[in-house]
This record gives sequence, structure tokens and C-alpha cells, in this order.
Amino acid sequence: MDSLPPLREVIARHGLSASKALGQNFLFDEQLLDRIAAIPGDLDGKAVLEIGPGPGGLTRALLRAGARVTAVEMDERCLPALAELENIFPGQLSVVHGDAMKLDHAELMGEPFAVVANLPYNVGTALFVNWLGGENWPPQWSSLTLMFQQEVAKRIVAAPSGSAFGRLAILAQWRSVAKLAMKVHRSAFTPPPKVMSAIVHIEPKEMPDGVSAKVLEQVTAAAFGQRRKMLRQSLKSVPGALEALARLEIDETRRAETLSVSEFVSLARTLASL
Ligand code: SAM
Repeated sequence: MDSLPPLREVIARHGLSASKALGQNFLFDEQLLDRIAAIPGDLDGKAVLEIGPGPGGLTRALLRAGARVTAVEMDERCLPALAELENIFPGQLSVVHGDAMKLDHAELMGEPFAVVANLPYNVGTALFVNWLGGENWPPQWSSLTLMFQQEVAKRIVAAPSGSAFGRLAILAQWRSVAKLAMKVHRSAFTPPPKVMSAIVHIEPKEMPDGVSAKVLEQVTAAAFGQRRKMLRQSLKSVPGALEALARLEIDETRRAETLSVSEFVSLARTLASL
């Protein structure tokens, strides 16, 4: 492990200039990377799926923490640098060259796993929605530790009644616990992105009874699609929604962002039972 060359040297040697098209902003500060790798808790001997390892800064930190890492990277220029890490940590790292959006993560891992990733904004959000969606619960992942633009991270952990509260918060909170684990200053990245970043940590909890993820998604999409309108207007397009509101004694003149996550869950449950 002591033989690890500095990351900046690895990048120079392999000519890994950051590609804008691939959303590459690298982290080099080993102390910061160790703190990120500590967010999921003790990783010693645990299976970790890292998406977008790039030159391998975060990967090194995960390996130092004793994790068994499967790292999926799309940019083939990064593969030689990652192969060096595979040699330094024999049997602990497996690198997969591919697009994480096209892979079945549960099949790839074949056992429970933690996800850790510093990803481009669009890929991160799409994967987040996939990981948290669907009817199968609990998921095969035990936690998600993901870097986002700070504004998106705030939307994920938002409480009701603010403008940040919406579909992302409900998706992240109705059967999981979502926390803002760490803010990361833009100057920590090379090159620095335009905005600040933050890491969210999400752990699954029990899924409420009698609720379909699809129905909940349908009702939140309608409610927040017209977030400034009263529920009696925004939920008009959802069959049975106004009756469900009445049954639950939720005032139909309220707006979507004033409902709690559990009120949305009750709404979805009542809709499914009509
Ligand atoms: N993890 C490194 C770090 O923290 O320094 C690199 C982070 S960089 C923001 C994102 C990485 O994700 C890049 O290496 C990029 O090539 C990779 N990437 C982007 N889209 C991807 C995808 N769909 N599947 C796999 N990797 C992807």
C-alpha cells in the first residue's frame, strides 16, 4: 500500500486529462477521500460497488478501508491506472469496463453490497432513481453514498414545507433514511465544477404495508407537477385521488409541498385500496 504513487503522478503518466463530456471532476485529497470512504461505516471485508472510479482516488480509499470493490468505469483511458491498483490490492478490486446505466447491479455483485460513487450529475440522478424505485424491497444494496450537486443533495434530504421538498425527497425517504453526510467545496475537485457538492447517505428501512411504488410515484408526479396548485386541482388527473383525500381527511386546498412523506404514503395506500 505504501507503494501507491501519488494520484497526480498517475494522471500525468496515463495522460488522463479530465473529459467534460464524461463529467469528470477528480478528487485528489487522500484525507478527504478517506473521510468519504468512512461514511458507509466499517467496510472491512464488505462488498462495495463503485461507479465511475476514474483514476481511482476514491477507489484507493475504499481499498484502504478493507472493502472488496467492484468498480465500473466507462472511460477506457482510466483502465491502465485502475489495473495498477488491482495489482497493488490483489483479490480486492475488480474493474468492469462499461456503462453503469446499462448493467444489472444486483446480478453483477451477486451478494449484498454498499454503493459509493462520485458521478456526473445526470448519471448520478438517473441511477439514484433506479436504485430507489421499483416494487422489490428491501433492495440488494445496503446503503448508497453518493456525491451530488449541493442543491440536488438538499432536495433529496428536504423536509416538507420548503421549496426543495418534492419527488426526490419522497423517493428517498418513504422507505429509506436519507442524510446529508458531508459538504464538499468545489475547490476540492480538479477541475473545480461551477457549483458546490454534497454527499448523501441513504439506508433502506422497512417498506410501508399496502403501498405500491408505482402508485406513489404517480401521485407525487401529479402533485408536484403542479406544485403551486391546490391538491384538488393537481390531483384531478389521478383516478380516485380526491376520494382518497376525503377519506384521509386531508384538506384538498393544501398544496403538495405541505404534505408529509407519511401523508403521501397514506394517500398511495388508500388509492390502491379503492
Ligand atoms: N471517482 C473519481 C473521483 O472521485 O475522483 C472520478 C469522479 S468523476 C466526477 C466521474 C467518473 O464517472 C468519471 O471517471 C467518468 O468517466 C465516469 N462515468 C461517467 N458516466 C459513467 C457511466 N455511465 N458508467 C460508468 N462510469 C461513468
